[in-house]
Formats: sequence, structure tokens, C-alpha cells
Amino acid sequence: MDFFDKLGKKASETYKVTAEKTSKIAKEAKLKMKMNENKSNIEDIYKEIGKKVYEKHVREENIDIKKDLEEECTKIDVLSAEIETYLKECLELKDLRQCKNCSSKIEKDAKFCPECGEKQDDEEPAKEVEVIENNESSDEDEN
Ligand SMILES: [Zn+2]
Repeated sequence: MDFFDKLGKKASETYKVTAEKTSKIAKEAKLKMKMNENKSNIEDIYKEIGKKVYEKHVREENIDIKKDLEEECTKIDVLSAEIETYLKECLELKDLRQCKNCSSKIEKDAKFCPECGEKQDDEEPAKEVEVIENNESSDEDEN
């Protein structure tokens, strides 16, 4: 084999490892960013709910969660589910997972949780969480 071929191959392998590492870090940063984004969106919705409840109080009306707050609650459900998914992806990048009982970070292939002793499934069937891409832009006014 040609010397330069070997050299080139080695260099590209090194590059590949570095690139993988870098993309993992970048991926994690991105996931964390998304999680924070969702969390702050949830906070906004909480405020929205609080406002609605107070307005009901002012008008001396009763609040019907199903009717009056369903939209907000559904949004929070979706955002929370997304956070769960991001968190899982984040842990997987580090070969970790969450204990299904106490939510401790544990080794991906641990059979039992070292924190609470809960037996872990070998391979958790991935729950398909439908990620709805909407309300990304913050300039949208709800009212
Ligand atoms: Zn546990």
C-alpha cells in the first residue's frame, strides 16, 4: 500500500472520530437548547392559564378546564412529551438512560437501578412521541 494512501486513511479516520465527538456535543447542546425553549414556553402557557383563571374570577364565572383551558393544557402535554424525548436522546448520547421508577441516570445496559433497585427492561420499546412542529416563532400572538 502506498504511504500516502495509509496516511490519508489514518487522517480521515481521526477526522471521523473527532467529527463524531463534535457532533455529539453539538447534538447535546442543541437538545438542551430545545429543552430550555420548551420549558420557557411552558412557563408562558402557565402565565396564560393564570391570566385566564383570574379573568374568570373578575367576571365571576366558573372555569371549565375542558372548555376554557384545553388548548393550553394540550400544548403543555405536547411540550412536556417533547422534553422527555429530548432528555432521553441526551442520555443516549452519553450511553445513559433514566430509571423508569425513580428517574435516576443509570448505565444504558444496567439491569437494575443502583438507586432504587428497580429492574430495568432490556430494551424499552421506543414510545413514538409525535413531535408537532408548531408555534416555533415567538412573534405569534395567541389572542
Ligand atoms: Zn431507580
